[in-house]
Amino acid sequence: MKKFVVVGLIVLLLMGVVMAFNPAKEAKKVSIPANALKISPNTYYLGKAIDKKSGKVVEGYAFVKYKKSFGKPGTECGNGVCEPGENARNCPVDCGGNSDSSTCYAFISRGAKWRTVEDYIVNPNNADGLDENFIRDNIAYDISKWEDAADGLLDDNSVDILGNEVAGVVDGADTSSPDDKNEVYFGDVAESGAIAVTIVWYTIGPPFAREIVEWDMVFDDYDFDWANCSLSDCTQKMDFENIATHELGHAVGLDDLYDDTCSEETMYGYANYNETKKRTLEAGDIAGVSELYS
Ligand SMILES: [Zn+2]
Repeated sequence: MKKFVVVGLIVLLLMGVVMAFNPAKEAKKVSIPANALKISPNTYYLGKAIDKKSGKVVEGYAFVKYKKSFGKPGTECGNGVCEPGENARNCPVDCGGNSDSSTCYAFISRGAKWRTVEDYIVNPNNADGLDENFIRDNIAYDISKWEDAADGLLDDNSVDILGNEVAGVVDGADTSSPDDKNEVYFGDVAESGAIAVTIVWYTIGPPFAREIVEWDMVFDDYDFDWANCSLSDCTQKMDFENIATHELGHAVGLDDLYDDTCSEETMYGYANYNETKKRTLEAGDIAGVSELYS
């Protein structure tokens, strides 16, 4: 009997030690559920759920951002040497994209967009020493790029799509049903090679009525280092603004692009260290967001 008590105490003690060192890590971990359906290289269908606020049936999608290593323009590829602007289809080299990219956009689901403005909450704590205010300000700035482009012009006339940051507790990305909170934070995205994930829930129905009801966004600071590449060396780091601007494209209703002729668009589905070209919206990004909101 005494032996059991001792063993029990040791087990309790070990559990206490594990919980003391791991609570943040567990709470911050986001995994794509095993029953989620992979529908494209980076996209998982999370299934249907009920949106508590509206009582409507919604569907969820998780957009996972992976790292891809590119060759440099001038590298041997396929039939010859890739030149900037050359059609790089079937070529694993970033050749500098397409000169007319205005058809380079795709929707997560035709007509699915924000029809009511909802605010969002941010937990800017990160393992890379990025300043809290930089994170908050940069997210707001990156949102403003999409909102500015929503009328098809970069003219400072904005459509309010994603609201403002408000105070609140981030309790994690929702992969099984929405919780009526739009949450942004750093954590551990379980998928191997995932830089970030954005989860979007929207109501089902005809395209003219589909409504996005929630977005959650997680930047993986367990497997990747993050920085503001305008200010520091980014040889092995992800530029926060570059990735955040892309992820926010999902939050407004845009899908990833995989055609290498669209590799210069912000919504191109892969990213790399020290990349900053996705900070600015290109012709296809602007055409996509304006088709939804103007
Ligand atoms: Zn994406």
